[in-house]
Amino acid sequence: MSATLTLIPATLIPGDGIGPEITAATVEVLAALGAPFQWETQVAGLAGVTACGDPLPPACIESIRKNKLALKGPLETPSGGGYRSSNVRLREEFKLYANLRPAKTIVPGGRFDNIDLVMVRENNEGLYMGYEHYIPIDGDPHAVGMSTGINTRQGCRRIVRFAFDYAVKQGRKKVTVVHKANIMKALTGIFLETAREIYAAEYKDKIIMDEIIVDACAMKLVMNPWQFDVLVTTNLFGDILSDQMAGLVGGLGMTPGANIGEDAAIFEAVHGSAPDIAGKGIANPTALLMAAGMMLDYVKRKDLGDRLRQAIDDVLNKDQVRTGDLGGSATTDQYAKALVAKI
Ligand code: NAD
Repeated sequence: MSATLTLIPATLIPGDGIGPEITAATVEVLAALGAPFQWETQVAGLAGVTACGDPLPPACIESIRKNKLALKGPLETPSGGGYRSSNVRLREEFKLYANLRPAKTIVPGGRFDNIDLVMVRENNEGLYMGYEHYIPIDGDPHAVGMSTGINTRQGCRRIVRFAFDYAVKQGRKKVTVVHKANIMKALTGIFLETAREIYAAEYKDKIIMDEIIVDACAMKLVMNPWQFDVLVTTNLFGDILSDQMAGLVGGLGMTPGANIGEDAAIFEAVHGSAPDIAGKGIANPTALLMAAGMMLDYVKRKDLGDRLRQAIDDVLNKDQVRTGDLGGSATTDQYAKALVAKI
């Protein structure tokens, strides 16, 4: 008797540029894997503007609200026209406060091998709040530029607990708290203070915590990245350092990201829509596939996530089927077919 597969409804946003190509490849591989997702396709970004004049159409928001789960291709924000970034709007709308960005070596032979780091970035507060303005002086309307960052105790607690819980569950050894509390004593001071409090009260018997100032962290990530494990930090520092970490493992084309909150979880590649190669069928779908792997882990199908990651490893390293950005000559479709055959 075969077990009945319970399907999990999930929103699929193919996105812009290479988005539809890498999304099609990812959906094909997930189908071969027997992933339990029932896709509900929605448009956003430029595709949303083209379809209905809105980069984040209400139907897309409603679909994510209902399913609480989405896989998203890269979205372009149209320049001009007063459009706000759809990505930032999604993070706000669904309170996606944790941005989880693992950076793990998949294809060895780069400048740094055996990298296995995870950035936990606060995704809703800090200097991304967008409280910005200019002060005009002597006829110069932009004589002074000002930005106000906001970190709340509640927001700090939430992201720090998320990082410690994640690290403990994943069997990680250490969480490094990255800050600039020596200069921004209030803004990042409360982040460090809260991390120390939560660690002492709840996690000190479960895992190691250490602290580092953000500039030293950037330098040490290049000098000796293996000294780090899980890192947790505020919004802007996390954005910058996670791209630096992506550079350690072969660039943005290999790195996935998850945006996790109380109301939903949205999985995506860290890279953008790559307009320079869009429509050519040569994009590398690995980052989105790895994001789909995180999505499988999230819905408690780590067994399938592990199978997917193993197939990616085998196809890239044993079979050496690779797209152009990794020095190979496979098309997106050929790479996807090789994965389907392996799974
Ligand atoms: P990008 O990541 O799209 O491209 C940077 C370079 O990396 C390009 O040369 C591109 O060809 C290459 N590249 C990226 N992904 C690749 C892949 N999967 N396979 C092979 N090569 C790949 O960055 P950009 O050009 O700065 O941004 C383009 C657009 O994407 C912008 O409109 C930006 O706002 C948007 N963007 C969206 C997201 C998102 O939705 N999460 C993230 C970043 C950028």
